[in-house]
Amino acid sequence: MALTMDTLVSLCKRRGFIFQSSEIYGGIASSWDYGPLGVELKNKIKRVWWRDVVQQRADMVGLDASILMHPSVWKASGHVDHFTDPMVDCRDCRRRFRADKLEETPWEHYCPERKDNRFSIPAGAPCPHCGAPRSRCPECGKGELTPPRQFNLMFKTFMGPVEEDAALTYLRPETAQGIFVNFENVLQSMRRKLPFGIAQIGKAFRNEITPGNFIFRTHEFEQMEIEYFVNPHETVDGRPADEHWHERWIHDLLAWYQRYGIRAEHLRLREHERDELAHYAKRTADIEYEFPIGWSELAGIANRTDFDLKQHAKWSGKSLTYFDEERKEHVVPYVIEPSAGVDRALLAFMVDAYREEEVRGDKRVVLRLHPELAPVTVAVLPLLKKREAIVRVAHAIRDDLSRRWTASYDDTAAIGRLYRRQDEVGTPYCVTVDVQTVGDPDKGEAGDGRVTIRDRDSMEQIRVPVPELVSVISELMAGAEWARVAPRFASESPKP
Ligand code: ATP
Repeated sequence: MALTMDTLVSLCKRRGFIFQSSEIYGGIASSWDYGPLGVELKNKIKRVWWRDVVQQRADMVGLDASILMHPSVWKASGHVDHFTDPMVDCRDCRRRFRADKLEETPWEHYCPERKDNRFSIPAGAPCPHCGAPRSRCPECGKGELTPPRQFNLMFKTFMGPVEEDAALTYLRPETAQGIFVNFENVLQSMRRKLPFGIAQIGKAFRNEITPGNFIFRTHEFEQMEIEYFVNPHETVDGRPADEHWHERWIHDLLAWYQRYGIRAEHLRLREHERDELAHYAKRTADIEYEFPIGWSELAGIANRTDFDLKQHAKWSGKSLTYFDEERKEHVVPYVIEPSAGVDRALLAFMVDAYREEEVRGDKRVVLRLHPELAPVTVAVLPLLKKREAIVRVAHAIRDDLSRRWTASYDDTAAIGRLYRRQDEVGTPYCVTVDVQTVGDPDKGEAGDGRVTIRDRDSMEQIRVPVPELVSVISELMAGAEWARVAPRFASESPKP
């Protein structure tokens, strides 16, 4: 059965991933708070992205620009004039819709040929009874829609104590512009040669007309963006450098999602049609994911040409060029922009990891998250919470493991239930401390100093000496397969 958004929303709330914002006040539309497990997952997504695209690449550096910028930035970038969506209002129920998305949503229709009959009609289709195309409000089905008006998506705010036009500024609607305005600073301070890129992770804000679908479209979200600067006069393998690097980044970003567990068949590339391209773009390709709401954008990779640097040079009066030593000329670099949403990535990773399995007649819900993304890497579970020696050893192990990984301790239920809970939040490894580990002085039995590691995916268990625990988990976290590690401990381990 396909995972629905409702099932995911309920798991996220129940298990501390994501809560409705300001819930005790009745909530606020389309704002979500990341709970204890959600923030771990989100931080880990950002951490592996930063490691893979900044730290491990010699041609990349990072940046963290401010959210509030000089208002001229948004005039130069075109956001004040062009960052708009066409909006229509229902004259009856007053709801608002994005005119360009209306054809993609089902609509309610009061058919004149079938009295008292209200029909829900699939997106894009006419009424099967009277043949009328959509002309009324998709929600109430009655009200006429106003002609489309352009609505600017930027949130306005004022800097300083006086709310006057001179103090007007905006919450950034994308992180990209913070990179463009720092192009010269980075070029000079880091002595970069083309091609090179600047990456940034940060919040962006858009006053979306129709937010929704959980964390898919919100007013406040996070982006992981790269601006990759190339010399437009160079060629690579016979192609203009910008086209070569555009292809490369599309390939690298697709591979990145797959590396952390998204199945290839749930990803696809969608080229923007000519009439859909932003005014500055030479080519844009979206990476789409098959979300529970259907195929939708996960990330976009645009060739923004030299538009942004030229615009900022014009508005600021500063030269934003690169001196090409070889050709002895100043050039304005072209820019390839891989832009990914953190929240949409998190949604996609969770959806793709979600499985409902049958284990010995019982349903098991398991998030098969990549071990590096799982909110809890290792859960340490005492088999008997009243046995002081067991609890002491379990706490000591958790403390030790938590210096390297996110480790948790849980003794609030019987072991079977604890395993199920950890499966449901995607914990790849559980470590169990039992009587055999610490021994039983009343019976004169010495402990064997071994603990059980349970693998989430195979549910197999091995018994490992406590001093070897860190090295075994390190091996597994570095990518060693369970099936290769487990046989080393087979003689001491429970039979499956
Ligand atoms: P859409 O067509 O879905 O509105 P977009 O093309 O406007 O998205 P971009 O401007 O290309 O989006 O932003 C880059 C990325 O930022 C998107 O691929 C998406 O992952 C993320 N993103 C954009 N808008 C939102 C939003 N309102 N909520 C959550 N993530 C968003």
